[in-house]
Amino acid sequence: MSEDSLLDHALVRLDEAAAHLSIDPDVIEKLKFARETTKARLMIRMDDGSRKSFLAWRCRYDDTRGPTKGGIRFHPESTADEVETLAFWMTFKCAVMNLPYGGGKGAVQVDPRKLSKAELERLSRAYIQAFARIIGPDRDIPAPDVYTNSMIMGWMSDEYAQIVGRAEPAVITGKPIALGGSLGRGDATARGGYYLVCHLAEDLGLSKTMRVAIQGFGNAGQHIASLLAADGHKIVAVSDSEGAVYSPAGLHVDLLLDAKAKGQSVTATAGQGGHDVISSERLVGVDCDLLVPAALENMIHERNAASVKAKLVLELANGPVTPEADKILAANGTVILPDILANAGGVTVSYFEWVQNKQGYYWTVEDIHSRLRTIMEREGRAIWDVSREKGTTVRTAAYVHALSRLAEAIEAHGTQSFFTS
Ligand code: NAD
Repeated sequence: MSEDSLLDHALVRLDEAAAHLSIDPDVIEKLKFARETTKARLMIRMDDGSRKSFLAWRCRYDDTRGPTKGGIRFHPESTADEVETLAFWMTFKCAVMNLPYGGGKGAVQVDPRKLSKAELERLSRAYIQAFARIIGPDRDIPAPDVYTNSMIMGWMSDEYAQIVGRAEPAVITGKPIALGGSLGRGDATARGGYYLVCHLAEDLGLSKTMRVAIQGFGNAGQHIASLLAADGHKIVAVSDSEGAVYSPAGLHVDLLLDAKAKGQSVTATAGQGGHDVISSERLVGVDCDLLVPAALENMIHERNAASVKAKLVLELANGPVTPEADKILAANGTVILPDILANAGGVTVSYFEWVQNKQGYYWTVEDIHSRLRTIMEREGRAIWDVSREKGTTVRTAAYVHALSRLAEAIEAHGTQSFFTS
């Protein structure tokens, strides 16, 4: 990767999209910078009685289209640059799906796997104590991201309720069902991507039995494996942070899910059901029809992109393909269904959760699935049509689609607005 920041890489997409639209340069200027990024040092008591501190951030990138929305990541390598970039992507993702939100994101620089459950709870509560004045159901609404989950969202929403002195479930989404979470949130990210692939299958000329490789086997990776395997597709390779397994005849998804449920790596299934260990790097280039990045940013880059054999990439992760790799893949005829569309099922069902919390009326899982499918198909089709019409990649079309909505909202606010929500 070059010396540029992750945000510089992300902004390349903005310039590419702007070239296809005639919009006021003020709009681009506004979208090139985060509106506010707050940093805090969270100090918690460890189980052994010592104190430890962790860096944390919350970024509200742009709130032109509504309250900022975006997950909280717990990761040892998180940085302010990463948080701002993820918040920039959220701004576009919410606009892609026409959700009434801007983009935000948060992180704590921590390896949560090294904390006990009690320490993790104290850290999650400390995050809310530090950022309670920034978040709010009509201001900034967090959700889970890498290495955070519904249990953590439950602690966070409880802490927020204690601080403001009333139940305020709409402040955080991805909560446990018992605390106002939505049915269907667990697999929403993967399900949205799955609906998108099914809807565009004919346009993309997909086979009914695709061979699929999945990079990252957490929330997004596990659910997409289950959904595709249930349709008869063959999952030939998966990886996690400790390694990868491969079987050209198809991996046994149940074995992989069992290993993860026991807290093991996917590599613990090696030797069973024909599963062979391969290097994580080899996974990117295995012979398959569909590659699903579902781990972290920049994992497909200029040094490994040429090895990709898949003709379709479904970006469930945020920012998994660098701009340089994008060009290599396009030149090789690989179509990418980009993150801001492909993984937007998560924020869409988060939006459903927020609506249900505000209404105090809860929908069935069938309702959730059908509303999610409708939005994924509507926006996916619109973006596909823009890409055909303008002769662009699907990624550029998705940015064009979102940017025109953002530009309309920015212009509608008027030139004197400082959006001081
Ligand atoms: P998760 O924490 O549940 O899973 C992450 C997975 O990635 C784990 O299996 C981990 O072992 C694996 N991983 C980490 N480093 C790796 C490496 N170097 N090689 C291979 N695998 C590696 O996280 P998640 O919620 O599934 O999120 C995954 C991606 O999807 C992230 O980019 C996230 O921002 C994005 N995303 C998630 C959601 C959601 O609702 N969960 C929504 C939109 C986007």
